[in-house]
Amino acid sequence: MTFQTRISGYADPALHAEGLYIGGKWQKGSGIAVTDPSTGNRLTEVADASVEDAIRAVAAAETAAAGWRDTPARQRSEILRRWFQLMTQHAEDLATLIALENGKALSDARGEVTYAAEFFRWYAEEATRIPGEYRHTPSGSHHILVDHEPIGIAVLITPWNFPAAMATRKIGPALAAGCTVILKPASETPLTAYAMARLGEEAGVPAGVVNVLTTSRPAEVTNAMLADPRVRKLSFTGSTGVGRTLLAEAAKSVVSCSMELGGNAPFVVFDDADLEAAIDGAMVAKMRNAGEACTAANRFYVQSGIHDAFVACLTARMAALKIGPGYEPSTQCGPMITQNAVRKIDRLVSDAVAGGARATTGGKPLSENGYFYPPTVLENVPVDAAIAREEIFGPVAPIYKFDSEEEVIRLANDTEYGLAAYIYSGDLKRAMKVGKRLEAGMLGINRGLMSDPAAPFGGVKQSGLGREGGVTGILEFMEAKYYAVDY
Ligand code: NAD
Repeated sequence: MTFQTRISGYADPALHAEGLYIGGKWQKGSGIAVTDPSTGNRLTEVADASVEDAIRAVAAAETAAAGWRDTPARQRSEILRRWFQLMTQHAEDLATLIALENGKALSDARGEVTYAAEFFRWYAEEATRIPGEYRHTPSGSHHILVDHEPIGIAVLITPWNFPAAMATRKIGPALAAGCTVILKPASETPLTAYAMARLGEEAGVPAGVVNVLTTSRPAEVTNAMLADPRVRKLSFTGSTGVGRTLLAEAAKSVVSCSMELGGNAPFVVFDDADLEAAIDGAMVAKMRNAGEACTAANRFYVQSGIHDAFVACLTARMAALKIGPGYEPSTQCGPMITQNAVRKIDRLVSDAVAGGARATTGGKPLSENGYFYPPTVLENVPVDAAIAREEIFGPVAPIYKFDSEEEVIRLANDTEYGLAAYIYSGDLKRAMKVGKRLEAGMLGINRGLMSDPAAPFGGVKQSGLGREGGVTGILEFMEAKYYAVDY
């Protein structure tokens, strides 16, 4: 079936766009192939922005900036609310696009659309509650007034693994704060971003407030935008390596940065945990998006008393998952994003096996068309294997046995990352005590899913800087302005 047939069969064709969206105008183009990861076949092509296009987008964001900043918060809120409603109405269309270009199972894609749309609802509400401050100086010399102003034009860069949610998690607070933006989605998954821009237009987002461009030269295009003095904010979600490069680039013009980077989440199961609940949680924490998530459980530390039962139950559940193209409704585990991703997983698993690990299910890439790697459980994994240090970003659960609390705290913290961590225990006091000592920005306590627009999302150590979502997420797009007032 061709892409066009699929689009008209499953998704509203009006949402299909392939060109750059700058200053409220769609500009035709081509040059970036979008691939169906379940076949390796080309789906379509989208426009490839040049540096000149990007600077035009900055100019469009600048032209729209004053009008948007001065639009009453209630009006900005209503536009975001309409965008939320339109995403909800078109949830099935968006989920289909995500399943097609990203490969994730439709059930995951539907979950992502709900999660993504909720950021618009949450920030529609937060737009009307931007905090300020008033106090006297302790010496009584004058009055302190603190206002929060929109920071200015923001460049938003997003990864392919959550093509809708990573964009709304940035656009929602930026627009609520009064900023205008340029979104650069990942080249692997541009169709979802363009479809959302179409819905934004329909919701009444004024021309130039949201601009979207895809490019095959992300470094060149982003560096040019960061060097433009009109750009005041970079909000990036992606790998730690690219994040470091961008921080160095942004430093040249002292652009404010929010960084949502990689993770290496430990999933700790104590002997006193409810086994069934821990397995349910492990399946969610590991298999959402077939493991292609920054919060994915990357290292399972299981206490010796429950270890064998945990391995047996997790193996049975993983082995039973149905593998297939994301857009087939029965699929539970879709393909990886690229062949390179499959190669990386294969390298990590082979290295662990060479070090003494044993695959209780899976363990080898599938040989059919498309970028498939089967759900895999590894036991007896050496704690210093490469798979314990690097993000797997795939459906592989390496299990490590531990005995004491001190030992598992040391192992869990032995990583440069600090995004998410999970603890399963029947003793909440113990779970909270151990949680306090884990170096992570987010903890799932007897829960395998933590993401929520109302909660702060982000990491410590090399997992990032700043927090998205929650009540503070909007402040990432604002500057405090202090008025010293004598009266
Ligand atoms: P990536 O870093 O390769 O790419 C992310 C984005 O940056 C893409 O849009 C890409 O085109 C762009 N990019 C790449 N090089 C660039 C450069 N030099 N200058 C400017 N832009 C550049 O990451 P990915 O493979 O798309 O995504 C997976 C990574 O994202 C994983 O490490 C994952 O943990 C992380 N991630 C983090 C979070 C979080 O919230 N912390 C969420 C999702 C994904």
